[in-house]
Amino acid sequence: MPAPIRLMLHGASGRMGHALMRLCGEGAEPGCVVVAAVSRKPAQRVVDGVPHFAAAELRGVPAFDVAIDFSLAEAFDQVLALCVERGAGLVSGTTGLSAAQREALVAASARIPLVWAANFSLGVALLEELVERAAATLPGWDCDIVEAHHVHKKDAPSGTALALGAAVGRGGSDPRYASLRAGDIVGEHTVQFTGTGERIELVHRATSRDVFARGALHAASRLHGRAAGNWRLRDLL
Ligand code: NAD
Repeated sequence: MPAPIRLMLHGASGRMGHALMRLCGEGAEPGCVVVAAVSRKPAQRVVDGVPHFAAAELRGVPAFDVAIDFSLAEAFDQVLALCVERGAGLVSGTTGLSAAQREALVAASARIPLVWAANFSLGVALLEELVERAAATLPGWDCDIVEAHHVHKKDAPSGTALALGAAVGRGGSDPRYASLRAGDIVGEHTVQFTGTGERIELVHRATSRDVFARGALHAASRLHGRAAGNWRLRDLL
């Protein structure tokens, strides 16, 4: 039997971190084991046998194969640097990264295997393909991307809205964005194409963070052992 893939969860105390910890505990991705969890200030030192570390102690985490990062843009540089230093893989879903951080990620991909995606759900991966095709088929139509998330979300437009916008751009349209922050909405994206006398709406609604967490865990197990590179999610799922 192959050795288990050792995961380090970065952003472990957050909404996504909780989903990842729970799913790992339930064995959602057999062959993966969490060996360390990092958050800004952990409330407990050990949870279900997993050691927890504060952000300031990041360099002291035990050996790991792949880091899964769902933290905040301000915490991203440290986890990227640690993965490069350790020669470990990185799966990141952290949004709101700056242009400099995106460049650092591409530079790091010369040394480690990594994947960054604004959205780890299969549905959004398909939606990107659909909106690109719609934009290419409907030149001259207005395109608007409307996203809604919970009130705690920091960045706007969402990373997913921007990724959908990039797909629309590849199809030849120039989208406008609108963001709504309300209650506990997990994530909703509507891409609307409006012509004269007709309108198309393509909608994705996530009702559970588990879809993102499952996608990230699966990506981690598929990333492990690959060559250095900036892998696309569709190559791994
Ligand atoms: P959250 O605010 O609930 O959690 C953030 C986590 O980051 C916490 O554990 C916090 O302790 C940790 N953190 C903050 N500063 C840190 C530091 N300096 N070092 C280490 N850890 C630090 O956020 P969330 O809702 O779990 O979302 C996390 C990120 O994932 C956001 O950027 C969000 O937009 C993104 N997200 C991406 C996807 C996707 O599929 N790509 C899905 C959902 C959320």
